[in-house]
Amino acid sequence: MRILFFVITSVLFFACEPEKEYHVNGGRIFGTSYRIVYESSEDHHNEIRSLLDSFNRSLSTYDSTSIISRINRCEEGVVPDPFFKKVFRTAQMVTDQTNGAFDMTVAPLVNAWGFGFQKMADVTSELIDSLLQFVGMHHIDIIDGKVVKKIPGVMLDGGAIAKGYGVDVVASHLTSLGVKNYMVEIGGEVATRGHNPQGNFWRIGIDRPIDDPLVLERKTELIVHLSGEALATSGNYRNFYIRDGKKYAHTIDPRTGYPVSHNLLSATIIAPSSMLADAYATACMVIGLEESIELVEGITDVEACFIIDSDGEYEVIYSSGFHQFLR
Ligand code: AMP
Ligand code: MG
Repeated sequence: MRILFFVITSVLFFACEPEKEYHVNGGRIFGTSYRIVYESSEDHHNEIRSLLDSFNRSLSTYDSTSIISRINRCEEGVVPDPFFKKVFRTAQMVTDQTNGAFDMTVAPLVNAWGFGFQKMADVTSELIDSLLQFVGMHHIDIIDGKVVKKIPGVMLDGGAIAKGYGVDVVASHLTSLGVKNYMVEIGGEVATRGHNPQGNFWRIGIDRPIDDPLVLERKTELIVHLSGEALATSGNYRNFYIRDGKKYAHTIDPRTGYPVSHNLLSATIIAPSSMLADAYATACMVIGLEESIELVEGITDVEACFIIDSDGEYEVIYSSGFHQFLR
């Protein structure tokens, strides 16, 4: 009788235990795609989608009614929301840390070179010199809750940091719902927690930086294993153009006004947040390999792997603590 009772309670117990169920949500945002995989008894795509939409209304330069677009148009008294403030304050910090290599006020230059939200200009050295006066985070601040520009021509570009923060926003929403296992990815920027459906660390592929705007020839160079960390990759192998035999990259050096050109083909950063990984990855593409190694080795909890062009061959260079992610 006692055995029968045990059998019955065990069956009931197992019947009540919720199944380990993973959901996969996907769609398009910020001109790119997103993919979110998480373990939960419920599907949360509707809330995630509205979270991403409100994020877009704050930081997308492609939405003319967004907070960032209204600031760029010099609308009076724009009151930034918490999304904007968080990105702006982090951007200020990364600009300081990288001596201006990362700078959201690079927008007029990005536009002029044909990678921005406005029409491309006929670039001359005079034009670039004249645009440099609008570049510098010291020209803009949030004072008493309002955005204040010191010169009206200053404009912001969130393209190097906002996607990463969007990933963090979705990730913290899932954490707040009690989700313990997830991978959030927007256009290659990633945040992870716990395990994948197979019970292992999340496996994230880093692409070989093959010049390939249409993404026809995708090849994975290496795989990293993450659980709790975030990751972002920057490079100039998808977003660039060739004119008169010269390659023009979408990473612009805000200090010179010109697209970067060096042997660093891609920079992948692993950091506690996807926003930081995103910003540091772009900064590395500006400063090149040697300075990037110095930058990353000087920041705790940040690791990197760089893929360089070494006499026509792809070479991967790791920061000192990166090997733990190759497992
Ligand atoms: P990512 O793919 O994160 O490296 O971001 C690249 C995008 O960031 C470009 O397409 C520009 O919109 C913008 N950008 C380019 N150069 C810089 C820079 N030096 N600092 C901040 N944003 C930049
Ligand atoms: Mg970036």
